[in-house]
This record gives sequence, structure tokens and C-alpha cells, in this order.
Amino acid sequence: MDRRLGRRFRRYFPTQYLIPIVLLFGTSFGGLIALLIHTTAVQDRMEREREIELLANGFGGTAAMVVHDLQDYARWDDAVRHLVQAFDPAWADDNISAYLGVVQRYSHLMLLDEQGRVIYAVTGGHRRPPGFDPARLLGKGFVAAARRVQANGPAGEPVVGGFTGVDGKVYVFSVAAIVPLTGKVSLPPGPRRALVIANLIDQRFLNTISSDHRLPPLRLVPGVTPTSEGLPLIGAGGETVGRIMWSSHAPGTELRRLILPAFAMIGLIALGAAALILRRARSSIDALRGSELQALHQALHDPLTGLGNRRAMIEQVEQCRGAVALLYMDLDGFKETNDVYGHAAGDALLVEAGRRIATAAGSMAFVARSGGDEFAIVMNGTAAGHADRICEAVLASFHAPFAIDGYSVTAGISIGLVTSTGGIAADELIRRADVAMYAAKANGRDCCCPYAAGMDEEYDERRRLERDLSNAIANGGIEVHFQPIVEARCRRIVGVEALARWTHPRHGPIAPDLFIRVAERSGLINDLGRSVLVSACRAALAWDVELAVNLSPAQFWDRTLVNRIATVLHETGFPAARLELEITETYLLRRPDAAEEVLRDLRALGIRISLDDFGTGFASIGYLRRLSFDRIKIDRSFVTDVASDGRAADLARSITALAEALDLSVTAEGIETEAQAAIMRTVGCARMQGWLFGRPVPAIEMDRILGGERVAIRA
Ligand code: C2E
Ligand code: MG
Ligand code: MG
Repeated sequence: MDRRLGRRFRRYFPTQYLIPIVLLFGTSFGGLIALLIHTTAVQDRMEREREIELLANGFGGTAAMVVHDLQDYARWDDAVRHLVQAFDPAWADDNISAYLGVVQRYSHLMLLDEQGRVIYAVTGGHRRPPGFDPARLLGKGFVAAARRVQANGPAGEPVVGGFTGVDGKVYVFSVAAIVPLTGKVSLPPGPRRALVIANLIDQRFLNTISSDHRLPPLRLVPGVTPTSEGLPLIGAGGETVGRIMWSSHAPGTELRRLILPAFAMIGLIALGAAALILRRARSSIDALRGSELQALHQALHDPLTGLGNRRAMIEQVEQCRGAVALLYMDLDGFKETNDVYGHAAGDALLVEAGRRIATAAGSMAFVARSGGDEFAIVMNGTAAGHADRICEAVLASFHAPFAIDGYSVTAGISIGLVTSTGGIAADELIRRADVAMYAAKANGRDCCCPYAAGMDEEYDERRRLERDLSNAIANGGIEVHFQPIVEARCRRIVGVEALARWTHPRHGPIAPDLFIRVAERSGLINDLGRSVLVSACRAALAWDVELAVNLSPAQFWDRTLVNRIATVLHETGFPAARLELEITETYLLRRPDAAEEVLRDLRALGIRISLDDFGTGFASIGYLRRLSFDRIKIDRSFVTDVASDGRAADLARSITALAEALDLSVTAEGIETEAQAAIMRTVGCARMQGWLFGRPVPAIEMDRILGGERVAIRA
């Protein structure tokens, strides 16, 4: 419970600010309170000291006044005459009591004879029968003081005053020896008679003193008290006869009482302000932390698909311990979707592809979009054992077309798979997965290819070639040569086939089969195809023959293909009716629907289509009928043996018969000898192409050949 409270507290108030604020508050408020307590305590103490001093003066003054009051009556010739030489109580009444008792209001008035006996007493305004023990009335302290006064000679004191206590009562008294003022009267020798006045220190007395000195109410504690508080009343013999007690004014305490609530109030307000500041600080910290988290999320996530990004994928692979499987995937046909339907559709395809991949991968795997149209799945531990199954699931999930912007888009996926039981660095694993993915693409796409050591060299070489080829295409390094196609009967050149040529700066001429494949795998084929088509159209524009240009199956992925070709024709001014596009069977087999559509559109432009390398693929009669070509080109492999192998000639004959049945004209490729030419012509090939009639030559050469031929024909 406490811990939960603590957590909650910390959630509201950030600890890093809390401690300094608590310290600041603690020191400033603590210091101020301590200072307040100290100064008010000093103030209280000073006030107490002032009261004690006032009270001491008050009581001291009272004692002195009592002495002073008595002195005049005791040092008086008449008093000697009427009280010592002969005792006259009536005189005492009229002259002593009348003033000291009635006017001065002394409560006790006594005359002591030489032996210290009471011979005259007035208490409380009434005469009292004499002869009682004065100690009973005023205590032993008083009796001792009286003795000192009554003693004659040098030891005798004329007057003694002070405090005396008896039976819980305390009196202020004065006792004085009756002595003459002048030499007119004399005293008998021996002890002296003494006059006594005393006042009971009662509450009225105390009240008078306190009001005279503006002191708090006083209280008398008679006798010896264990406490040392208050003001002690000291008897004539030096003994304590009582103590005056009072509750001191405590101006400091009062001030404290006044200030503290205000202080508490200020403290509360300050605390509230501090809490507010802390709360704000917490909000800013939270906001900061939120944006930090967001930044972290953004740093590790692909904003489009919500999957991890390349960095997250690398981190995942780096964190893998033990068995790990990495699937590296690249969408087939993404670029085309992007080109045809626009970027929004491309994005939608990526999102949907990511969703399908993630679903296929399941919860045990980490899925990332590692680049443009590349995805990755990382599996660790036991999950790595299911890599094959997940590959299948991902491939299967791409079978259904994608519904993008109301269109049904088909996309494939090529998967490279690498597995390891541990000990392979993350970047090496990623590299291998990439190599395997390239191999998958090379294997005809839409498949999964596990990594094998032999792939590396090919991969590196291909990567280098790709780079060089890309440069060559961009810098006009791709040349086009033309090979004549002749009429079988008269061997007149009726067409030329454009064949791409690339002379590598280091490796020299590269076989088209190789660099075309590289271009197909790397997506350079569209640019290459366009470049060849443009060059070929420009060159062949002046020639009065048909132009055959090869179209790679990979170019069929490009939805803009037909548009691009139309644009080239438009730009170069080359008539569509003179253009023939040669395509191989590969693509047609894979996507007959899409092929049918593209071919129809091309034919609609007026372009003719021929099926190249016929016989090397698996084109069925059904396809030939459905796709309605204009021509088939019998592959060189059939031609090579026709002169020596009777069965080859039969095969060639069957093909031409089939073509005839399908209303297709036939061209024989790779004719190198007259014998081959004769047989192919006999079996029904309308056109022929091969070294016998001419090798592929640069445009200038072809210009010359065609110019010469025209001259020859004219001649
Ligand atoms: P292809 O379209 O079947 O072109 C015919 C190939 O046979 C050419 O090879 C040509 O030089 C070769 N050839 C012609 N007559 C003979 C002969 O009598 N004997 C022998 N041994 N060979 C002969 P090349 O130029 O090496 O091209 C190879 C393939 O590369 C082409 O086969 C074509 O499929 C492809 N290709 C060439 N240029 C392009 C291009 O611009 N675009 C595309 N997509 N593919 C191209
Ligand atoms: Mg060809
Ligand atoms: Mg061919």
C-alpha cells in the first residue's frame, strides 16, 4: 500500500525536483521558524527579567516605606515620654494608631516592652489585649529582628524592616526602637522599647502592587517552596518567607501565536505553489518523455506500415542468441504498381503486403519493413525452426490479388532465407539473407531460396555488374546492333533484329544473355529496353525494312509498358506497323491473363508480336491460340541439327505445320549453313535469320548493307 502510494507520489512529483524543493523549503522555513522561536523566547525571557526587577523594586520599596513610616514615630521625644518613661495607651491611640493604623492602614501595630512583650496592640483596627507572644502573631523572624532593635549599645539597630512569615501568612513589617529626637528627654538604660507596624501581604496588597507596576496578577506562596521560580521574599534574618508567583507576560509567545498561523498560511501557499511547479515539471517531463518515446518509436518503426524499420530489424538480429532465422523479402511487381496506379496505391500495396507478411509470420516473429519494398522476418530460438513453414505461409498469402484503390493488383514476393544456430554476426546474416533473396529473384521470383555458400560470388559479381550496367544505361553505353532477317525464297532483307551490345570498360564485350539477365533481376530492364527501342527506332527509321526488338518478360511487370512504347514511337516517328516485338514464353506461362491484355494493347497500336525462341519453353498450343501471335521464331537449337539429324528436320516440319494451322508465319533462327537454310526453307519457314545471311552489325554497317542491297536490287 505504502509502496503504491510512493509510486503514485513519484508519478505526480518528479523526484529529481522534489528533493531540492524539499531542501529549499526545509532550510528556509525551518530557519525562519527557528529564528522566530529563538527571538520570541529571548523576548519572553527579557520580559520576565523586567517583571522580576519591577517586582523586586516594588516589594523592596514597600519594605523601605514601612521602615520610613515608622521611623518618624519612633524617633520622637513625645513617644519617649508617653510610651517609654510612662506608658499612656490613650496617647498611643491618639498619636500612633490614629495615623499609622487609621490613615496609613497598617494592619498590625504593637508596642514591645524592654523584654519584648506586647504591651499595646492594635490589629485590624481594634485594640487587642496585650501580653501575647509576638512570635505567634508575626513569627520568629520578626522576634529576632525585634531583639536586634531592642538591644542597647553599639549592637542595637535603630530600625529593622522586612518580611516575616507565620502560619502561612506573610507580613511586611518594621520594628524601630523608641528613641528621643532631641536631648530634652532621656532613656533609661538597658533594652529599649520598640514600636512595630506590619501589614499582611494579602491578595489586595498583591493586586495593588501589580496594578501600580503594571504587572500580571500576583500570587503569594508562603513559607519555603521547593521551586526557584518567582520572586523570593527574604525575611529580616535572610530566610525566605515566601515567594511571589505570577504568570509572566509572554510577548514573544504572543507574537509567535500571532505570527505562526500567518506563517503556516504562507507555508501552505508556498507548498501549494511548489506542488504546482512540481506538477507542471512532471507534465513537462511526461511530455518530454512522451516525445522521447515517440522519437524512439519513430526511430525504430516504419511510419507507413507500423512495422519495425531497418534499424529495428538490425537490432533484433543483433539481440538474437542461439538459433536464428532471417527471411529477407522483396516484392515482385511493386515498382509497376507504383508506376501505373501512383504512389498512394504503391503505399497501400506496401501496407497490405506488410499486414499479410505479419499475419503469416505470427506472433513469435519480428517483422520489419527493411527498405522500399523489402521486408524482413526475424525469428529467434524455437521459432527459428518454423522458418520454412513461415516462408510457405508468406508465399501463400501473396496468391490472392491485392485490392488497391478499387483495382485488383497482383504482386509476388521473393524470399531469401538464412538460418544459423548462432555464432554469425548480425551484418553477415543480413548480407546472406540479401544474397539468398537475390537468388530467389534470379530463380524466377515468387519463391523462397535458402542461402548457400556458392551464392556469394555470383551475388558480388552481379552486384558489380549491376552497378556498371546501370552506369552504362545512364551514359549511353548500350549500343544496338542489327542482324538481318531475310525472305526465305529470295533472301532479300525484309527485317532487322535489334540486339543490345555492351562493352564493359574492364571485361570487354558482355554477352547479352548475361547482362539482360542482370538487368532483369535488378529492375534495370525497363530503362535498358527503352534505350534499345529508342536507338533501334531512330536507326531503322531510314531503312525500308521491318524492325524486330526483343522484349524481356520482366518488362511485362511494367504496367506503363504499352504507354512507354507508344511514346517512343511517337517521339521517334517510327511507324508501329514496321515494329515487331519478340517475346519469350517465360512470362506468358506465368501470367497469361496479364500477357493477353498487354499483347492486345500492343497489337491495338499496330505492332506485331512474335514468339521468340519457340520450342525452348513450354508454350502449349492452347497458349498459341489464345494469345494470337503474328509469328513464331524457331529456336536455333532446332535448326543446328536439321542437316544432320532427320528427326530434327521432322520436328522443324511439325512446328511449321502447327504454325500454319494457327495462321502464324515462321522465322528460323541461327541459320549458319546453306544446308540448314535449304531444309528450313523446305519445311516451310518464310523467313530466316542467321550468320549465313549476316551477323549482328552496328547501325552504320547495317545502313551500308541496306543501302547496298537497295542499289543491288535497283541494279
Ligand atoms: P534472340 O532474341 O534469340 O536473338 C538471337 C540471338 O542469336 C543473338 O544473340 C544473335 O547474335 C544470335 N544469332 C543469330 N544468328 C546466329 C547464328 O547463326 N549462330 C549463332 N550461334 N547465333 C546466332 P545475342 O545477340 O547474343 O542475344 C542473345 C539474346 O539476348 C537474344 O536472343 C535476346 O533474347 C537477348 N537480347 C539481345 N538484345 C536484347 C534486347 O535489346 N532486349 C532484350 N530483352 N533481350 C535482348
Ligand atoms: Mg530475338
Ligand atoms: Mg531467339
